[in-house]
Amino acid sequence: KKRVFNFGDRKADGDAKFRNLLGGKGANLAEMSRIGVPVPPGFTITTEVCTEYNTLGKEETVQLIKEEVLSSVDNIGGIMGAEFGSDENPLLLSVRSGARVSMPGMMDTVLNLGLNDRSVEAVAARTNNERFAWDSYRRFVQMYGGVVMGMKPGSKEEIDPFEAIMEELKEEREIELDTDFTTEDLKLLVQRFKEAIKLKTGNTLPEDPWEQLWGAVMAVFDSWNGDRAVYYRTMHGYPANWGTAVNVQAMVFGNMGENSGTGVCFTRDAGTGENVFNGEYLINAQGEDVVAGVRTPQQITKLGSERWAELARITEEERRNKYPSLEEIMPEIYKELFEYQRMLETHYRNMQDMEFTIQNGKLWILQTRNGKRTGAAMVKIAMDMLKEGLISQQEAILRVDPVKLDELLHPVFDTKAIKKAKVIAQGLPASPGAATGQIVFHSDEVEKFKNAILVRLETSPEDLEGMHLANGILTARGGMTSHAAVVARGMGKCCISGAGALKINYKERTLTIEGREYHEGDWISLNGSTGNIFEGKVATKEPELTGEFADLMKLSDKFRTLRIRTNADTPKDALAARNFGAQGIGLTRTEHMFFEVDRIKAMREMILASTTKGRRRALDVLLPMQRSDFEGIFEAMDGFGVTIRLLDPPLHEFVPHQLTTQKELADDLHISLEAVKTKVAELEEFNPMLGHRGCRLGITYPEITEMQTRAILEAALNVQARGVIARPEIMVPLVGTLKEFTLQKQVIQETAEQVFRERKERISFKIGTMIEVPRAALIADRIATEAEFFSFGTNDLTQMTFGYSRDDAGKFLPIYLKQGILNADPFETIDQKGVGTLMRIGVGRGREVKPSLKIGICGEHGGDPESVEFCNTLGIDYVSCSPFRVPIARIAAAQAAI
Ligand code: ADP
Ligand code: MG
Ligand code: MG
Repeated sequence: KKRVFNFGDRKADGDAKFRNLLGGKGANLAEMSRIGVPVPPGFTITTEVCTEYNTLGKEETVQLIKEEVLSSVDNIGGIMGAEFGSDENPLLLSVRSGARVSMPGMMDTVLNLGLNDRSVEAVAARTNNERFAWDSYRRFVQMYGGVVMGMKPGSKEEIDPFEAIMEELKEEREIELDTDFTTEDLKLLVQRFKEAIKLKTGNTLPEDPWEQLWGAVMAVFDSWNGDRAVYYRTMHGYPANWGTAVNVQAMVFGNMGENSGTGVCFTRDAGTGENVFNGEYLINAQGEDVVAGVRTPQQITKLGSERWAELARITEEERRNKYPSLEEIMPEIYKELFEYQRMLETHYRNMQDMEFTIQNGKLWILQTRNGKRTGAAMVKIAMDMLKEGLISQQEAILRVDPVKLDELLHPVFDTKAIKKAKVIAQGLPASPGAATGQIVFHSDEVEKFKNAILVRLETSPEDLEGMHLANGILTARGGMTSHAAVVARGMGKCCISGAGALKINYKERTLTIEGREYHEGDWISLNGSTGNIFEGKVATKEPELTGEFADLMKLSDKFRTLRIRTNADTPKDALAARNFGAQGIGLTRTEHMFFEVDRIKAMREMILASTTKGRRRALDVLLPMQRSDFEGIFEAMDGFGVTIRLLDPPLHEFVPHQLTTQKELADDLHISLEAVKTKVAELEEFNPMLGHRGCRLGITYPEITEMQTRAILEAALNVQARGVIARPEIMVPLVGTLKEFTLQKQVIQETAEQVFRERKERISFKIGTMIEVPRAALIADRIATEAEFFSFGTNDLTQMTFGYSRDDAGKFLPIYLKQGILNADPFETIDQKGVGTLMRIGVGRGREVKPSLKIGICGEHGGDPESVEFCNTLGIDYVSCSPFRVPIARIAAAQAAI
């Protein structure tokens, strides 16, 4: 079995298709090598070896791959004209992790591996650049010590021990930047670093390059099971057995002097999707310098540089002198880089995120991958590439991650409110969106606030969880390609980076801006699209479906066969859903209408009534209220079907449980407090979800069904008179036997005839049922003889199929997910094996009897892409979801059909 794959010198053992085996980075390095992009030669140890390592351990794994690695290292040496382990002409290597999906939390890269006290002298002599040699050695000791030997800071308030040593020396020397260190300083740093490692870990840094190499390789494998990586994997549902690959590659040096540098670039704007090449770089720098925010990175293009200077409030003169673009200072290299980014985007037919290094005037590409982007950029790039002829309509649709559309459906700042808001500082618009929240300085404390803005000097992979939970992220340092910016864009989270005016004190938990102090818990607002930071809460408004987003939606309608309805209980929601493209209502929960203040009283009176007559009197009060709601809903859905469910929840949900409110109610109804208390106690149930609810209510109190039917049909007739096409569908909930359904159907039909007689006009309507009790799915053939439509209530169906109370599942579901008893929360994604089988049976048996039977689903699952795809395979007519998930369902349905 082949465990090591070579690349470099325009050849490679693998290519982009080997992603699972070589990891994303390795596969793309191989691909780039093949198509003639200048990548430093190297090799990839496969992800399978990572899995082998987990059972074999270090020693045996080394034996397993030793021969292949030796010959591959030789191969690199041949190409580079150097020798690994040599004291005279040493080959230096980088060791890079790389799983099949790009994953923050994996081991950091170790650069300049192979250096020791002897080879550093050789490098100095051969390059005639002693400072460079020692700068590289200093970095190597720092990286190896940190990621392989465990020199990580002990607590969040402690700074990196190596950084502390550097700060100390800077103070001694009265200098500010790393680049100000002299060669002697660097030598001293190496010595102090080594002492610190010995002191803290008890181990000495290995001098033997081979020992260094094996140490780094195994550290990459170990990092696959590190806390951060495991957290990220669980968050995304990536299985443990994927493993990570290890890339070992010849070093190229961006820190050789003024003619060298390193940077990161994107073929399009990852925030907005605009088709402009952009990125950042630093002269005389190596590795993560650009993203770590050690120095202020410079823009690659002149245009980007000018835009940046404007935001950073820097004059054109200062910009040209201190922060010129690569385009201006190295036009030849810029041209070459521009060509490669075009070539790679065309080759991969997707927006690329690239890393490069310039060594003494020669350009090397170190990485390319499909770039992370915001939801807005995702949509724009897909639609632009379609227009450019780079991808097909189907591909454009498949490029969209339906879940990410969610970002475009979140509120944006209200234009009026934002004008009045006070700008307290400005940073770089790193990831667009509007965010309001309370200041929190430490990532592990974000969860203490419902709405948090994470405020940091800069972020690192340790902050991942906190970034995920926060509403927005604000950093004082770092550019558009900093860790915070890139990760935030990937998460679709609002982020402002590099706000230089911020003075942050982690210990005191304060943020000072131009003398004004803010504390943990203070509210601020961020506009990630402009970089503006505001004091306090700024009001937001609902988003709209326009531009490329609207175009994409229209395009998706061409392909999908499933119809998309919405769950809406009010005219306002119905209208919002219609604007998002809903084709009717799959579920109106009538009970929600009762919860409003003035209505709940009538509702309670109805519930407390001890006679049918008393109940009818209360229902008469409720009737006009329901009717007017239904009118609004029919109007919003003019021409589309509107499914209205009869009263469903157990009645005790409507009665007051607190003494004060019980007293008020008693006074209102002129009855004794005791009577109220008795009734409330009577309604108490052991298992309310399996109790007196659904059609069981309508069967005990047919007058409720009568009133609701009357409200629905009178509303329909009223709007019909105004020229609106109303198509009511009355739905009976929680049916488990045919008889339950026929009894309710009879009440509905009789009431309807009465209404039609009174009004001397008719309107056609349908009577159907929910399929949400497992028994209903099993006897669907019987129910279908009487029902005109089915709607799977997948929430209850899941609850009853698993026997998990939806309201109590929070206690054990997280544990079930962690232990792998379940792969996904069945209340979010339909459990295809169990619940799905019941659905298949229900559809099959129902249509056997009535081939034209209309079937839909109306649980929360209607807006979950995976569940939508499953529904598509069931061949049902529609899915119904909450208004703001309608666009997501539209796209998911189109993807399912492609
Ligand atoms: P990550 O997965 O975190 O992006 P990388 O493996 O890409 O980590 O390495 C991080 C940085 O290290 C790169 O952006 C690059 O600047 C530097 N680097 C990696 N390999 C080399 C190399 N062979 N020569 C020079 N620099 C390198
Ligand atoms: Mg990288
Ligand atoms: Mg239900």
